[in-house]
Amino acid sequence: MKKNAEKTETVDSSAIEMKTLHFHQENVHDFAWFADKNWIVRKGELLLSDSTRNISLWSFYLPKNAELWENSIEYLHDSGYWYSKFYGDYPYNHITAVDGDMSAGGGMEYPNITVISRSGSKDLLEYVIMHEVGHNWFYGILGSNERDHTWMDEGLNEYSNIRYWQKKYKGRNEQIIVQEFVQNKLGIAKNLSMNWFTYAGYANSGKSRDAQPLNLTAEKYTGGNYGQHYSKTAVFMRYLQHYLGEDKMDEILQDFYRQWEFRHPYPEDLEAVFSAHLQEDLDWFFDNVFEKTTYVDYGIKKTDDRFVLHNYGTFTCPVEVAFYNGSGQEIQRDWHHNIDNKKKLSPPLAAVSARIDPDQHMPDVNRRNNSTQKSLNLNFVWDQPTYFNHDVNIVPWFFSYNYYNGFTPGLTIFSGFAPGYDGSGNALSFLYDFEHKKPVGGFSITRPIRSISLFHASSLNINMNHGSGRTGFNARISGTIKEPYVESPVARINANLFYHHLDSTAFDPFLYDGGKFLITSLRYSKNWELNIDSELTFRIGIKMGKDFARSYLSSDVNHRFTKNIATKIRLFVSRYLLTKELPAQYRTYLSGSIDSDFEQNILDRTGNSEALQVLSHIYYDGGPGLRGLVLDKDGRPLATEKMAWSLRINQELPYMPGDIFFDIGGTAGVENHFIVSGLHFGPLFIPFYQSWEVKYKIPNNGQWVLDRLRLGFNVSLPFGINF
Ligand SMILES: [Zn+2]
Repeated sequence: MKKNAEKTETVDSSAIEMKTLHFHQENVHDFAWFADKNWIVRKGELLLSDSTRNISLWSFYLPKNAELWENSIEYLHDSGYWYSKFYGDYPYNHITAVDGDMSAGGGMEYPNITVISRSGSKDLLEYVIMHEVGHNWFYGILGSNERDHTWMDEGLNEYSNIRYWQKKYKGRNEQIIVQEFVQNKLGIAKNLSMNWFTYAGYANSGKSRDAQPLNLTAEKYTGGNYGQHYSKTAVFMRYLQHYLGEDKMDEILQDFYRQWEFRHPYPEDLEAVFSAHLQEDLDWFFDNVFEKTTYVDYGIKKTDDRFVLHNYGTFTCPVEVAFYNGSGQEIQRDWHHNIDNKKKLSPPLAAVSARIDPDQHMPDVNRRNNSTQKSLNLNFVWDQPTYFNHDVNIVPWFFSYNYYNGFTPGLTIFSGFAPGYDGSGNALSFLYDFEHKKPVGGFSITRPIRSISLFHASSLNINMNHGSGRTGFNARISGTIKEPYVESPVARINANLFYHHLDSTAFDPFLYDGGKFLITSLRYSKNWELNIDSELTFRIGIKMGKDFARSYLSSDVNHRFTKNIATKIRLFVSRYLLTKELPAQYRTYLSGSIDSDFEQNILDRTGNSEALQVLSHIYYDGGPGLRGLVLDKDGRPLATEKMAWSLRINQELPYMPGDIFFDIGGTAGVENHFIVSGLHFGPLFIPFYQSWEVKYKIPNNGQWVLDRLRLGFNVSLPFGINF
């Protein structure tokens, strides 16, 4: 093989004379044509292994993308080379890639030529170029019906992408570089590989109740599932290759290519070629992967010297298990078939530990339970999980700040959350409060719940935190209720149990009472996407403490009239069912939330800072949520133990940045209602009318506006470390 790239001069001026160009190509079912006089034009060549034909490689790209595209001829060469080697020789004389410099998907394939979107890195560009060039085989030469059997072109092609990367980048462990500095200098995600990238695209969907079989026509597919044509097909074909062996796979797919070159194969034609080459019936593979939504989940357990292989999944496929001796060397490896439930394995005498699918070819949706012995694997910030070990990510944490504790640097340690963990994750934060010279932090545990059939998907989160003058606990079940395959309506249920122990010296005594509080809350919401421009949301909730109970109701209507005109309306009403003893923080504040249950990162709950204190210039949305600050007669934020209501409107208008807000609200205890209106831009709320002002209801000078300016700040830190 020979790679040869040369640079050709570009001519800037347009020719005055008209000319006629003729393009001719046999055996293609589509064409495309691109032109741009600013292109840098590069040419290379590819000699196929039979050495009789020389294929011209062309890449056309804009000068501004020159650095990214500098190796584009190499990508074209290697794509042509590997696909020819895997499946059969490229039959045409040109392979061309065009820099589309747009952001419409990754790229678009046409016979002989492909247009490529903007890419974030050289590897991502190579990925897209090889993928689009690969469509010459899967879609072009093997002209399957891409609308009826999308997996046959996108999926088999994506599988080939993993193969290409494995061959070409074996030396760097199939690494794909999305961000050079982050991965190779900082060492974050340094082991990210192409095959894991594809597995990650599949693993979370495998067990979803929204999963759809691949053999559906394109219009029956929901948007969220479309990617499964690529990733699910790719990961299962990769697994099949491992099961059959690469030589066998090559033999079969090369025969498929020979038989169906320039014709229109259907799924059964592919399956027939597999059958012709194998003794074994592959119905189990084709049925499960393409016709069903079954998923693979094996697990292995060791008790004393017994190794038991469990099938927790719904797809019973052959599974490979390896045994290791005391020094960690592999001593035996076997395939196991027909494990419907569980099977006691017969390990070799020296076996100390075992792993399922030791090279990780099987798209097991939960890889956490695939080894009997785990050692500790520490990563800086995050890396691709090994799953066989305890993969623990250590994040230096500088960002947590609140006025009471000051900056609290420390470490957050987490594991899980990534695809392949089945929705599980743990996090632990050790932070230090230099002001009070004591540690702060907490932990958070997240697990999926599958036993509540009411829910489409649900999870349990438990977290405990110490910081900001509070020691607290929260257990939360959140679940969605909806029909499979539909995106609307979706209902959500959120049930919480909170415990707070508040040190009264750490809080603004007007806003928060100190002491111990046990709180339960239940929230139900339902959202309808009426059409692409309109949605409706309805919420109802109740919160209860020892001697109080408060209920609320709110509703949102959002509608976009034109590109620049949109309206959002929110109606809110709350009332108390019981107020025998109402702690200050559970009163209803008219002008925003004080986050009584510590679900957000609040900058100052002490009331001692001028700029940061809650309910002043910093605005946390919640409750009636008037965007202007209403004060009581003592100059404190107005709070009520009675019914409260608000109507809020956000109006986007043409030729205006941000939007205009208009809020009206009131409470049963106060005769007048309150109106505020102003400009909302980014996180800023800039009032220009406040009805409750005694002196000037509209600005009399710039200071009036500055005094009333508010900054929207609803931030929830990851892993539940909110103080
Ligand atoms: Zn594609």
